[in-house]
Amino acid sequence: MTCERCGRRLRLVRRKYQYRESGLPDVFLRKVPMYVCPRHGVQAVVLRGIDRLQGDIRYALLDRGRPFSGREVRFLRKYEGWKQSELAARLGVHKITVAKWETGATPVGTAYQQLLYRLFKDPKAFEASKPPSVPLKKAALPILLPLPRRRSTEPRTAAHA
Ligand SMILES: [Zn+2]
Repeated sequence: MTCERCGRRLRLVRRKYQYRESGLPDVFLRKVPMYVCPRHGVQAVVLRGIDRLQGDIRYALLDRGRPFSGREVRFLRKYEGWKQSELAARLGVHKITVAKWETGATPVGTAYQQLLYRLFKDPKAFEASKPPSVPLKKAALPILLPLPRRRSTEPRTAAHA
């Protein structure tokens, strides 16, 4: 393999690599094979097993026991294959809230940190633990009651007896 810029032969080395593709600022991979030109530096990086890598990062984020940053929320959401609106629906927040967390415009509050942890740790268990929700349309219907009758001196149960 040769350098595209100067034609020199590339050397294969193994170095620490900052995995920026994760979208996280602090993920480094050890001993990643890369091709280096003596003059132009790194020309190619060999990344294998990306799927497993993403899983390892997810595990590390859940395991380190500290609040999630916005970027970490984004990483974990994408790992699950959810859109911002899908994460929002699971938490019962507006999708704009999720967007603000992810960009760092708004910090994730303590209560939502807990929920996010439980959700990302085990999405199925999280879903199962939620109380059944009332469909919004039905809940929003007006409640129709008959007009109250004139107040009677007798107790209502007695009047029916
Ligand atoms: Zn070169």
